[in-house]
Amino acid sequence: MPGSPAEVKLVSNAMANATRRKIMAMLVEADRKREEIEKAAGASMLDYHLQMLQQAGLASAKDGTISITDFGRNFMESKAEKPAEAKKDLAGTKPIEIAEVRQLLPCIADKTKFRIIARAEPPLGGALKLLEPLFPRARYSEKIGALIIQRGNILITAYSTGNITMTMISSENEAKAILEELKRTINEAIAKGITPVPREKIKVDHAEIYEYLPKTDCKVCAEQSCYTFAIRLMGRETTLDKCTPLLEPKYATNLEHLRVLLEYI
Ligand code: SF4
Repeated sequence: MPGSPAEVKLVSNAMANATRRKIMAMLVEADRKREEIEKAAGASMLDYHLQMLQQAGLASAKDGTISITDFGRNFMESKAEKPAEAKKDLAGTKPIEIAEVRQLLPCIADKTKFRIIARAEPPLGGALKLLEPLFPRARYSEKIGALIIQRGNILITAYSTGNITMTMISSENEAKAILEELKRTINEAIAKGITPVPREKIKVDHAEIYEYLPKTDCKVCAEQSCYTFAIRLMGRETTLDKCTPLLEPKYATNLEHLRVLLEYI
């Protein structure tokens, strides 16, 4: 672990750059392929940035996969927002109420389960992003402007607009209990500041992706089967929009769930 003035300087230099800080923030969440980092952080001087992080002992690279080191993780945790600071950022954020549960639709992936659409008032807007550390399995997606929270099989997607969707729900009572807990957690953070909880890594595999595909093997996506398509999606060798049958209204829930799952790949 770096400790000498020269080593401390290496870390300080490595973290002085916004691109490298962005890379470290990505690595805290999961190991990343080089291409993935390039897509998010840009190709410009990427080798140099990665080299700086490795020299500082913050990251390591093996077979094209970049990982955060234990030292890097400790460093990032030590620099994580303190509750008092988080509270400051949430200043002006009003406590939420769950105003309505608007729909109860069957989940196509499992017809014994339901999909719920609820609404939080007032909408959390940009504050939503700050709430990610409150949940062991959660991720804020800039792309869809939503906080995605995983609770076992249940996927809760809270949008900055106030809408909240939940899939794989067994009953309306279960939905109400989860929404109540969500509201309590968020309102406590607004009142007292954010206390981060230990985070768990979320793993998505091709079998889970396959569960939400239409399973008709129609080949419209130019793959031999839905299963092959799922494997290619996992490998980032194709994109979800190639499966146009998913645009049919009956697959709306599946499409939403797939979009969320792909955020974790
Ligand atoms: S287009 Fe969709 S439904 Fe058809 S084979 Fe491909 S993944 Fe399956």
